[in-house]
Amino acid sequence: MKTPLSYHDLIEHLPHTGCVICNLGQREVSRHLDALLYEFVNDIETHALFRAARGLCNQHAWQFMDFQGHILGVAILYKASIDEVLKIIERAESQGAAKNALKKLIGGNVEGKSGLSDELEPRAPCTACKALTEAEHLYAKTLSETLTDPRIGAAFRESSGLCLPHLRLVLRYVEDEAKVRLLLDIQTEKWNIIRADLQRFIEMYDYQRSSERMGPERDSPLRGIRSMSGEDGVFGLRR
Ligand SMILES: [Zn+2]
Ligand SMILES: [Zn+2]
Repeated sequence: MKTPLSYHDLIEHLPHTGCVICNLGQREVSRHLDALLYEFVNDIETHALFRAARGLCNQHAWQFMDFQGHILGVAILYKASIDEVLKIIERAESQGAAKNALKKLIGGNVEGKSGLSDELEPRAPCTACKALTEAEHLYAKTLSETLTDPRIGAAFRESSGLCLPHLRLVLRYVEDEAKVRLLLDIQTEKWNIIRADLQRFIEMYDYQRSSERMGPERDSPLRGIRSMSGEDGVFGLRR
């Protein structure tokens, strides 16, 4: 059987700091934003999706600002999404004027029509979120299938471990007991180390009122956040 590309991605990225699925997911988001601005900025389907999604979500829209060299692409895509929103408002206004019921239309419940606020809701997910979700599932599935592969097993043991949300995702894909045991064995070893470092951090900090002269426990609060909540920007605000 041919080894999937995602297997090689895992081997290459497991040694990097942080959860490998967070890191590969973020790489996928960067690639997606890059492709939107470089290749698909004038693509009809992309424009339709961008209009339907009302742009990107807050997190990914702001990531566009990292692509200053292709800010023209941002201008073109956002002009399309604002144009869509203005059309919806215009349509609502003209329908409301015809029935002399704009106020009701905006509030909703006029002859089965939804209110303007519903009309303005995104009709499609943020395309970068979609790319991120697909990447998370691809890598979680590949990791679950290859855990007992010696190269993956060794690289995973040497890695920072997974964040909690991605551990949960991998657990959903793991099918045999040996893999579950291996996964939990490695992951709990990582968390035990972080917990011990956090304990030491707390004791040292109490004593010195500073982290300056600490050893490996110095960055344990950062590792605590990373291992429970994932890398910055992967999971959004959840509200
Ligand atoms: Zn993660
Ligand atoms: Zn998004």
